Amino acid sequence: MVIARIGGRVTRIKPLVAGNWKMNGLGGSLSELAALRDHLAASPVPEADAMMCPPATLLTRAHEVLSGSGILLGAQDCSPHPSGAHTGDISAEMLADAGATAVIVGHSERRHDHGETDAEVHAKALAAYRAGLTAIICIGETEEQYREGHTLDVLRSQLEGSVPEGARAGTTIVAYEPVWAIGTGLTPTPPEVAQVHGLIRTVLGQMLGDSEAGAMRLLYGGSVKPSNAADLLFVPDVNGALVGGASLKAKDFYEIMSVYAGSGI
Ligand code: PEP
Repeated sequence: MVIARIGGRVTRIKPLVAGNWKMNGLGGSLSELAALRDHLAASPVPEADAMMCPPATLLTRAHEVLSGSGILLGAQDCSPHPSGAHTGDISAEMLADAGATAVIVGHSERRHDHGETDAEVHAKALAAYRAGLTAIICIGETEEQYREGHTLDVLRSQLEGSVPEGARAGTTIVAYEPVWAIGTGLTPTPPEVAQVHGLIRTVLGQMLGDSEAGAMRLLYGGSVKPSNAADLLFVPDVNGALVGGASLKAKDFYEIMSVYAGSGI
């Protein structure tokens, strides 16, 4: 059962399975999006929402492929600035103009490859709100931090630094992605995921109030695939997944979504 427990209350949250194509995909890859659209039309999974985040170069064409399908379109990063002299950057407004309704901010590959700080992630989340996009704010500890038992402290500090004060459940999603689990085939155990997601919701409650925190989607990300999705996604306080590698194939992504089919959520 996908639930959030906060302040003694239990809130039901519709899960979201979001795919992150990262720097993968040319025009020909849109056939995978079309295949996902067609799978979901033929065998819907009404218990969960689907979102795909292709590279920015494909957003407009992906928007056309997904039009009317109910599959949400997201982007992978945005500039904090609305426009101006920032060569190569893409604003949240441009993403919205291309058809995106959400944007991932603070993915660990941005934090590590580009040195993005919590303050920058915070600014990008505000840019997303400014453009009318949902911000999918990523947090996660490194392997060293995990091994040394610092996970909970690291996540608390990332949440406090990255999630804006006025964040609302309708336009904010938090994705927990342990860096050591991304693309490695390794995953935390379900009890570890439960502990971490419980902490995330508690910290969000302290920051934003119980009602926003209790309604906010918390996604797990890191080596989610069809074979482990059921174990990872039915953990308390897990409201869906952020999926990297397995989102590139429509069949794998659909199988992950299918764990929710008939689950009565
Ligand atoms: C990701 O990068 O968001 C991710 C979760 O990747 P993977 O599923 O490939 O581990």
